[in-house]
Amino acid sequence: MGQLQAAIIPVTPFQQNCTILFDADSKHGVVVDPGGDVDTILAAISENGLTIEAIWLTHGHIDHAGGADELRSALGVEVIGPHQDDLPLLQNLEKQAAMFGVAMKVANVMPDRWLADGDRVSFGEHVFEVFHCPGHAPGHVIYFDRAQGFAHLGDVLFSGSIGRTDLPGGNHQQLLDSIRDKVLPLGDDVGFICGHGPGSRIGDERRSNPYLVGI
Ligand SMILES: [Zn+2]
Ligand SMILES: [Zn+2]
Repeated sequence: MGQLQAAIIPVTPFQQNCTILFDADSKHGVVVDPGGDVDTILAAISENGLTIEAIWLTHGHIDHAGGADELRSALGVEVIGPHQDDLPLLQNLEKQAAMFGVAMKVANVMPDRWLADGDRVSFGEHVFEVFHCPGHAPGHVIYFDRAQGFAHLGDVLFSGSIGRTDLPGGNHQQLLDSIRDKVLPLGDDVGFICGHGPGSRIGDERRSNPYLVGI
């Protein structure tokens, strides 16, 4: 098994971190959260000589899922995740574009497979555990590679911040509960990529993130 590698491609007017996770040896991998700018994502895939096996979604917001249907058609792979509680969001991606007033190409998407807490997804020998972490979005999931000490946290936890909870289906206390019960127990040494901005380590956020004080 080769080293897990990540390539981050900022996409959409929201500068969302579309992430390609791949094996450094086999060059097989997955695209996490293709929010839009599908041509840019496809260019990154071919420049790196990658074979994409699936599209994984963390949640149903436009900047994470808006390009999933188009990328699925282009690559001929399945869209996996998030949790089915995000079905209403995924059916209204085009309306979200209007709500945010953004000019970007977006299409509603129906995943090929929903995920639930405790599921596992993989490419090659890289296995990721799935945790359902509602609060920012009802069906938000995160992906954890225990062997590599790496997690993709979507919009649950950022470096120095947490996901917003003022969007439809958001719930601040539920988000804090998800972070306390699902994210922090992954371990202080776990490094993560998130949906916006730089990544971090869970221990660093536990110690210094102002939103986590006292949870
Ligand atoms: Zn979001
Ligand atoms: Zn986002």
